Parts: sequence; C-alpha cells; structure tokens
Amino acid sequence: MTVRTRFAPSPTGFIHLGNLRSALYPWAFARKMGGQFILRIEDTDQERSSQEAVDVIIEGMRWLGLDIDEGPFYQMQRMERYRTVIAQMLQEGLAYPCYMSEVELNALREAQMANKEKPRYNGLWRPEAGKTLPPIPADIQPVIRFKNPLSGSVVWDDAVKGRIEISNEELDDLVIARPDGTPTYNFCVVVDDLDMKITHVIRGDDHVNNTPRQINILKALGGIPPVYAHLPTVLNEQGEKMSKRNGAMSVRDYERGGYMPEAVLNYLARLGWSHGDAEVFTQEQFVAWFDLDHLGKSPAQHNPEKLLWLNHHYIQHADPVDLAQRVEPFAKQLGIEYHQGPDWVGVVKLLKDRANTLIEIAEGAQLFYQKNISHDAAQLATHLKPEVIPALQEFMQRFEASDGTQPAIAAAMKETLSQHGLKMPALAMPIRYALFATTQTPAIDAVMALMGKKETLARLQNCLKIG
Ligand code: GLU
Repeated sequence: MTVRTRFAPSPTGFIHLGNLRSALYPWAFARKMGGQFILRIEDTDQERSSQEAVDVIIEGMRWLGLDIDEGPFYQMQRMERYRTVIAQMLQEGLAYPCYMSEVELNALREAQMANKEKPRYNGLWRPEAGKTLPPIPADIQPVIRFKNPLSGSVVWDDAVKGRIEISNEELDDLVIARPDGTPTYNFCVVVDDLDMKITHVIRGDDHVNNTPRQINILKALGGIPPVYAHLPTVLNEQGEKMSKRNGAMSVRDYERGGYMPEAVLNYLARLGWSHGDAEVFTQEQFVAWFDLDHLGKSPAQHNPEKLLWLNHHYIQHADPVDLAQRVEPFAKQLGIEYHQGPDWVGVVKLLKDRANTLIEIAEGAQLFYQKNISHDAAQLATHLKPEVIPALQEFMQRFEASDGTQPAIAAAMKETLSQHGLKMPALAMPIRYALFATTQTPAIDAVMALMGKKETLARLQNCLKIG
C-alpha cells in the first residue's frame, strides 16, 4: 500500500503557524513512508475563501520546504464530479430527496427541544420498503440527504485519540446537496478522500465530529476508511485557541520577521510530536523519526521564546555564505549597499552569534555601510582626550604596518596599550566613536579588520584632524 496523505485547508482568511502544522505532519508522514502528499484547497465557502489566503498557504508551504506531489486541487473545480456522485447515489438508493421546508424543519427542531430531545431530522422523506412518502410539494426544491445506517455504530482507531465509537442512532441523515444542487462540506471531503486514494487523514481534532458521518458515506460509496489521526489544537501563550484576534502572527509575518524556515519547521515539528527529548533536529531527521505513535494527546502551546531561541540556534550554525544571502533582502529594505564596503559575508559572520533574527543581523550591519557619519564635536573631544591621542597615533602606525587581520589588530592594540599604560576601553571607545560616531559596535578589532586598513585609517585620521 502506498501511503497517501493530504493537507486540506480552507483558505478563509488568516493562516497562522498552527494551521501549517496540519500540513507538516501529513507531509512528513508521506515522505517517511515513501508515499505521496496532496494539497487540496477546500474553497467551497466562496464568501470566506480568497485567493490571497491560498497564496499564503502555498507560499508558506514552499518556504518551509513542504513539497507537494499532487495538487493543488480546488474543490470549486470539482463540482461536476460531486454532482455525478450525488446522481449515482440517488440512483442506487444511497441518498434521497427531502422536501421538508425550512419552516417545517424549524418547527420539528423546536418540538424536539421542547421535549428535551436532541434536534435531528426525523426521516420523514427517507424511503423504506412498504413506507408511503408524503406527496411531493410543488414549490419546494429538495435537499439531498444521505441514508445513514439506522443501527450499529461507527468505530475507528484514531492514531491520536484511540478507539472512538459513535452509535448510528446519534447521527441523522446528513444533507449532502443543498436545494440548488451544490454539495455540502462533509460530502465533498469524502468524495475527495476517495478519489485521491487518501490512506491517512491527519487533521485538526475540530473534525472529530465529522468523522463518523464521513466514514458512513465513504463506506456507502464502497471505500475503505483511511487511518485517522486527529491532532489537538495549538493554543497561544495564554492557553486560548490561536487566532488573529488574540494576536497570532500570520505565517508570512515569520518570513518577513527574519525567521529561518528550518527553525520554524523544527519548532512546528515539536508542537505536538516528540522524539525522546530531541529539541533540535534537521528536516531529514524529522522525516526519518516521524511517526503517528508519538503525536501529543493534549493541546500544544505556542511558545514564541522557544521559536526565537531555535531561530538563534539556526542562525548561529548557518553557513555564513548562505546566511549572508538570506540577510540580503532585509539589508536592501534598510537601504544597505552591501556590495560597496566591507566584505558582506564577513560582516554577517561577525554579527550572527548575537542575532535572534535575520533582521537583527541586517540592523547590525547598517553600521558598516553608513555613508555620512556625523560626529558630535563635544563628544568627539571627550573621546579624543590629549592623553589618548599619542596612543591612538601609535596604534595607527602599528595597524598600518600589520597585515590588517583581526589577530594582528588585536596584537597592535595590546602592545600600544601596554606602551602607554592604558586599559582596553581607553583606546577601544575613542576608536569606536571616531569610526562610527557610536560606542556600540561588535568587537572593535574584528570590526576594523572588516572595514579594512584604508577606510579605518582614513576615518581615524579625519577625526584626529577635527579633534
Ligand atoms: N478544510 C478543513 C479545515 O481547514 C480540513 C478538512 C480535513 O482535513 O478533512 O479545517
């Protein structure tokens, strides 16, 4: 059996990280089992669905490296297929037209509730051997209802929740087509899962209630129910369901916020699944380790600090050349001309160990590429005190004579300091201020090595002139 899984999002607005986790697990399972992963867009709610949301989903998946084997299929483009199946079901007696009007249905519901019964369709139009159906009203377009089994129960072994059994008496005859003939949600899902030969349905547990109905329809259509794995929801830091209203970030915000997709993938993988106490792992390891047996049974809680920590980890361990390329779009946004000035890869390499996001690296890099540095005369004077100037001049000579590498600069500073009986800040701070008009910089020897001899000495010289 080839494993076939799917991600079936409804593109109705906001797509947060929890939504993409529902793509990650079926993807990982298909990859691990050498199967196929299918993307299906459930866009039948035309009022709430949007192309923009579809784009966010597809881009988000691409960003995380969740490649699809088939699709995207759009349910709106499969309407003919659903209508054909409905016609077939009517013909085979698996479904029937129901002419109960809205008014009658409401009256039925109210009567049931008044009797403290669960509101449900009473099977008035359900054809049975020997039963006489009411006369067909002329002015009512019927809905189509599925003939749910009347007895027995639906049972499935949920890969997350264990055995679930629902008595068929709990389920009434589901409407599978509306009066205008459009198919309903649960019906489309079943036809799709059948047609797409889905073997494992891995989805949010908000669909547990739909499952018995889906299984019944699926069986009626001659299908073998897939394995179901219903994932508990992802909660936010306050323990509420994640949503835009309570501050969840869109998937796009993470990309734009300078997160590494590897970090987000690693983070999401652990949000409801575990492999011993492994916290940091590559995509390959995740796929190799992933299984349905270690999915969490209780809701996972979003932890932004952990995600940031992972992002820092991935930035720190990234290949500098690759990382530099990833920072480029953010640098451009800040107007940094990284082709002109110190070696870009070198700058990124220097900044990466302290950065939590790619944006932080870009912000740190601004220092190296700023064009017009304007010093505050008074501040410059406090830094370039008369007793510092000879030391600075000596350092400049030593630097000039050195090979300009960081160790050589460090040695030149050390020797100068000991010659003049000064401590490191006495020289480092004036140099920082002279070079950048700020004293906030990374290690100054590394910074000077990156700036290069010519530029550094020119700037220091210039300040000595002003000062
Ligand atoms: N479209 C549903 C949703 O976004 C998922 C349906 C399914 O996976 O069966 O919640």
